[in-house]
Order: sequence, then C-alpha cells, then structure tokens
Amino acid sequence: MGESYNFDAAIVGGGIAGMMTGVRLAELGLRAAVLEQGGQERYPCNTRYTGGAFHVCFRSVNDPEAALVEAIAQGTRGAASAEVAQAVAKDTRTAVRWLKDKGIKFIKGGADAWRENTLAPPLLVRPGLHWEGRGGDVMLRTLAGRLQELGGTLLLGTRAKRLRMDGGRCTGIEAERQGRAVVVDAGSVVLCDGGFQANLALLREFVSPAPEKLKQRGAATGGGDGLQMAREVGAKLVGMENIYGHLLAREAMHNDALWPFPMLDHVCTAGIVVDGAARRFMDEGLGGVYMTNCIARLHDPLAATVVYDETIWNGPARDFILPANPNLISAGATILKSPDLTGLAARLGLPQGALEATVAEYNAAVDAGQTMQLAFPRTTSTYKAYPVRQQPFYAVQLCAGITFTMGGLAIDGTGRVLGQNGEPLPGLYAAGCTTGGLDGGPYAGYVGGLAKSSAYALRIAGHIAAGRRVS
Ligand SMILES: Cc1cc2nc3c(=O)[nH]c(=O)nc-3n(C[C@H](O)[C@H](O)[C@H](O)COP(=O)(O)OP(=O)(O)OC[C@H]3O[C@@H](n4cnc5c(N)ncnc54)[C@H](O)[C@@H]3O)c2cc1C
Repeated sequence: MGESYNFDAAIVGGGIAGMMTGVRLAELGLRAAVLEQGGQERYPCNTRYTGGAFHVCFRSVNDPEAALVEAIAQGTRGAASAEVAQAVAKDTRTAVRWLKDKGIKFIKGGADAWRENTLAPPLLVRPGLHWEGRGGDVMLRTLAGRLQELGGTLLLGTRAKRLRMDGGRCTGIEAERQGRAVVVDAGSVVLCDGGFQANLALLREFVSPAPEKLKQRGAATGGGDGLQMAREVGAKLVGMENIYGHLLAREAMHNDALWPFPMLDHVCTAGIVVDGAARRFMDEGLGGVYMTNCIARLHDPLAATVVYDETIWNGPARDFILPANPNLISAGATILKSPDLTGLAARLGLPQGALEATVAEYNAAVDAGQTMQLAFPRTTSTYKAYPVRQQPFYAVQLCAGITFTMGGLAIDGTGRVLGQNGEPLPGLYAAGCTTGGLDGGPYAGYVGGLAKSSAYALRIAGHIAAGRRVS
C-alpha cells in the first residue's frame, strides 16, 4: 500500500524556487506541500551550493525596471520572452525584499553594483566546493523552518514521477518514496525541480553529442523530471540548446578542488582556445558562458585547450573572484609551460607547426585591429584581445562545466505552463531552472540563476491563492 495526500498546492523541488513558493502559499493560508527527492535534511541542490549574488544580467536588481528589461533583451539578442523578462525585471527585487523580511541575511558581496545583494555568509574564497553554513544553505534551512511554522509540509525523499490529469487539468502528482507509491491530489502543481543538467539523454537530445564529457558544476540533482512529466501532457519547450556554465580545467573531471571554482573564463577571454588540431573554433570575446556552450557542442568536448602568455597570466588571469592565477596552481591543476610555442604544442600532442601558425595569424590580426577578419571572428567590445607573444607560453586543457540548463518549460507572465498551442495548461505552473524563455539566444546570454528562480515564486503563489478565492 502506498500513501496518499491532499493539498491545495503541491510543489516539486525544494530549491529556492520551490521553497519560496511553498512558504508564500502557506503565508496566504493554503495547504502547501513541497516534494523533495533528497532524503537528508540538508539535501543537495544548486541553491545550497550557490554563490548567492542576486543580479539581473550583472546589474543591480534595484536598477530601473526598464533598464533591466533592456539588458535582458540585449544579452539574449531578443530571444527572451517579453513577458518573462518583464516579470524577472520587476519581481527579483521584490523577492529579495521578501527574503529579507523572512530574516534572511544579505551582504554587499563586493564593490560591483551587481553584488550588492549577496546571501550571507558568502562562499569562502577558496578553490573547490564549500557550501555548509554558507548563504544558500542558511537560506534553505530558514525557509524550511518557516514552512513548518506556517503549517506547510516538506516531504523529503519523495521523487515526483508523473502528473495526474483530469480532462486536461492537472490535479496532482504521482511520486515515489523508498520504493513506495505516493499519490498527491492537489488543486495546483508547481514544477521547480531545477533543470535537466543531470539527464544525459536530454542533454544528448538538445545540448551536446557527448554529455558524459561535461563536468557537472553543481549539485547534479536536476534530472529533468518536471520537464519530462510536463512534456508528456503536452507542454511546450523553449530555448533548449543553451546551458549556463563556466570553463574549468579538464582535471576538474576527477579533481574536486577544481570545481565550481576556480574558473578559467578570464584566461580564455584574453588568450586563444584551440581544438585538437590547434585551430580556433569560436569567438573568445563573447565570454565564458558562450564558450562553455561551444565546447559542449564539440564532437569531443574534452578536446579544447586555452593557450596564453606571460602577460595574460599576470594580467587578466588575476581578475575576478577567485582568479585562475594563483588558484589553479594551489588546487593542483596541470599548467603546461614552455619558452616557445613549438615546445608547448609538442607537450599537448598537437600537429607540428599548427599552433605556431594559428598564433601567428591571430597575433597579426590583433596587431592590425582586424580580429573580425579571422576565420572565427574575435569581437573586442567586451573583452580586449591580447597578442599571445610574451614568453613563457602556457596551456591548460579545458572542460565545459555545466551548472544548469537554460531551456525548459514555456511559461507565461504568471508562471502558468504553456501547451503546444500557447495556451496555459490548467492547474500547472513552473518556476526556476525548470523553465525556459529567459536566458539564451545565439550567444547564450545569461540573466541570473537566482533571479530566474526567485522572481516567479511570489507571483505563482499569489495567482494560485487568488484562483482559490474566486472558485
Ligand atoms: C556553484 C554555484 C554558484 C552559483 N552562483 C550563483 C550566483 O552567485 N548568482 C546567481 O544568480 N546564481 C548562481 N547560481 C545558480 C543558482 O544558484 C541556481 O540557478 C538556483 O539556485 C536554482 O534554483 P532552483 O530552485 O531552480 O533549483 P535547485 O536549487 O537545483 O532545486 C531543485 C530541487 O528539485 C529537486 N528535484 C529534482 N527532481 C525532483 C523530483 N522528481 N522530485 C522531487 N524533487 C526533485 C532537487 O533535488 C533540488 O533540490 C550558482 C549555482 C552554483 C551551482
């Protein structure tokens, strides 16, 4: 015999999106339950590992709404849904205020305006993963306590498997706990299970020909269950091809000191990235998230290497939070170093003469200010192009670190899941990294994981509560 429950609303996933939705629903007087597959009190999820900076396109969440909408449109080259962009631009600040009201502490994470709302305590400035007692962990434990105080339910160790449908309306969830069936009848269902980054079949279908060669740069708890359940009942998927992630040393595949930090984004935007034939294959000037996507799409995502020189190692490689120089060294990454490119190419096993030719052509283009004429044009509007010229020369073999998938379920301005015909599927909502339609576009524009996952929670709860009052 299994278990059965009845709630006003059932939420799948106990990350920030699910916990905020659950607490808000309980505040509004509804019987809300969060189903979380993790069985431990401090179950892993991306929210627990987060760096904690709430921003919208690396701008303060308090910037004028119109400016944030414009930044999203520019970053995604118009790919973001106007309705979703508007919601995130308007409600991320509301979400931050609401979290502060719940007693969650924020600090200024640094001098940049985009870091002014960072969860406290911030991540340790140290290579590797250190989440215990940091901002994301504290926030989730605070929200879990609040849910309980308000009479809400957190069902740990409970994995949602299927949506219950009745005449086109979603009426609950079928789940499993310790091999036993759990049936939850609910007036509304909210999918907040955090993306499909840990589902190799879905990654192969949409993102990469060899997803087993991507490094999971997060909790790897996003198995795409919500997406699959909703897809089965006719939900529309959007923006499925892009991921959010960063460039890591290839050894992060087996050395845990090398993920989620240090990242090599700033080394790669200053140097050149080559494939196994020593050829450039993308525009390094479009940033780390874009390059992570290009590498993930390679036939062999473990074939990319960054090549740079002493000027870059002592300049841009020292930039950003937890910079590659010196943290790659302290974390034990292999950095190949040689007085000349020929020696470096030999150590990398690259075809004779190919790296020297690529670098010579690249340097000539940089010197002439003609990097847009290269076979793979190199933009310079965001990241300056440096010649790779100053001895010694360096190389680090790379991998693509995937944090979460940008694509997912299409939603409207209130968080209702849309069907193939663009109409909402009654009773079904989604929030956070389960959804698509915000980040993405031709250059994998990144808006912000916490913004995406927090902005909709309060509006979804409000919409469900309003519907209950009317009916
Ligand atoms: C190292 C790191 C640093 C980051 N830094 C930042 C930052 O500084 N700023 C920023 O904006 N973003 C950052 N992010 C991204 C951001 O933290 C996430 O995008 C966000 O927290 C995701 O929230 P979520 O609720 O959508 O998903 P999650 O937090 O992943 O929660 C989803 C939950 O659903 C559960 N689940 C999955 N399937 C099921 C199922 N079938 N049934 C029941 N439960 C299920 C999972 O176990 C998980 O607990 C960072 C992420 C990482 C990993």
